[in-house]
Amino acid sequence: MPMKRCKFSFSRVLLSIPAAAFLLCACSNSRNPIPEGVIPDYAAVTPEQETFGHELLGQLTDKFELDFDDQRLNEVEKIVGEITKAAGADQEPWHIHLFKAPQVVDVRAVHGNHLFVWSGFLDAVEDRNERAAVISHELAHTLAHHNEPAEFSLLSEIMLQTFSMAAAVAVSYASQGMVVINAPDAAKWAYVQAAGLDPIDRDYPDDMEKEASAISLLLMSQAGYQPEAALDLWSRAAANSDFEDLLDEISRDLSADERADLIKGMLKKLPTWTAKLDRQALERGDDSFDLSKGSKANSNDDDSPPTQDN
Ligand SMILES: [Zn+2]
Repeated sequence: MPMKRCKFSFSRVLLSIPAAAFLLCACSNSRNPIPEGVIPDYAAVTPEQETFGHELLGQLTDKFELDFDDQRLNEVEKIVGEITKAAGADQEPWHIHLFKAPQVVDVRAVHGNHLFVWSGFLDAVEDRNERAAVISHELAHTLAHHNEPAEFSLLSEIMLQTFSMAAAVAVSYASQGMVVINAPDAAKWAYVQAAGLDPIDRDYPDDMEKEASAISLLLMSQAGYQPEAALDLWSRAAANSDFEDLLDEISRDLSADERADLIKGMLKKLPTWTAKLDRQALERGDDSFDLSKGSKANSNDDDSPPTQDN
């Protein structure tokens, strides 16, 4: 019997080598890139995502105190309401959580329609257009499904059991976090941490940063904000190292200079993108688009409360 078990394991290892190669190839192509000028279609929240968001909120409230009284929460809710409306993603509630944490300059959106804002961000970036720039960028990552949880398939479970954790992590990097694995919880946790796939600490590869930047500028424009505010913010950070350090969490892997360059290039293309969206809206007979303004009719002057619940 022991001999048989050993043989089985060995054959599994052998089988896993081509499987790993297949996985590396398959996963690098598994994500459909979002073309520039396109706002991704909204995907309804699943019960699992709903649960995930609430669990994450539970973990965060162990460390940070929720603030319901800060007047600036209204402004954040308004921004989220307008941006998600422009994205056609306002049919389900967005859960907006503000933490009383002046020392933390950060904003994170996760799947399940949750947005976490730490008050240090509101202190650091005071202009509403600049706040909209950062918030819409975070929402864009979620709308583009960049921060879907690491999922685990049978194939990668075999890999986790037969290869070292390092090999599995390498696969995850190669696949930009799109790997799917069914492994023991502890292994999954180690994997997610080691591969930088923790939903709240997620760093994104360059292609995803480009996509989120493009979507964000488009959404700002469609919602009646000034997309140029994104360039103002990152140019100011690029010119002032103290301010750049302050925005370190928001900037993630890119420098302020790199962000400013990326946005500058995209702002040049933005009029073409919005014109195309307007044409498409006209073809659909969508009268919420106001061609005289070159963008979606501005809901920004409307003080109706945004879709939000807590
Ligand atoms: Zn980003």
